[in-house]
Amino acid sequence: MLDCCSCEGEEPVRKRVRERLSEGRLAVATGLSVVRRGTGRLCSVCDHPIGRNENEHEVRNGGGDTDAVAHAGCHRIWREESRKLVPPLC
Ligand SMILES: [Zn+2]
Ligand SMILES: [Zn+2]
Repeated sequence: MLDCCSCEGEEPVRKRVRERLSEGRLAVATGLSVVRRGTGRLCSVCDHPIGRNENEHEVRNGGGDTDAVAHAGCHRIWREESRKLVPPLC
């Protein structure tokens, strides 16, 4: 289940991640991320605010030139879809 209480389920979020990755609105998230308490910033994946009772995952340069934050569940999907775009080197 997704951590974002506003999201209906995993499939719509997955679809949006793929769209945004292809449009370049989300960067490929394979690097480091920072987890901290939510501050009400909007999730770059689903556009819902990340509340103070949730954790936000900050991805460096995740939105292109800027840092992006995402819910834990959205971030997990973002990373999964990013991995599909970057095949392992072997
Ligand atoms: Zn959401
Ligand atoms: Zn989200």
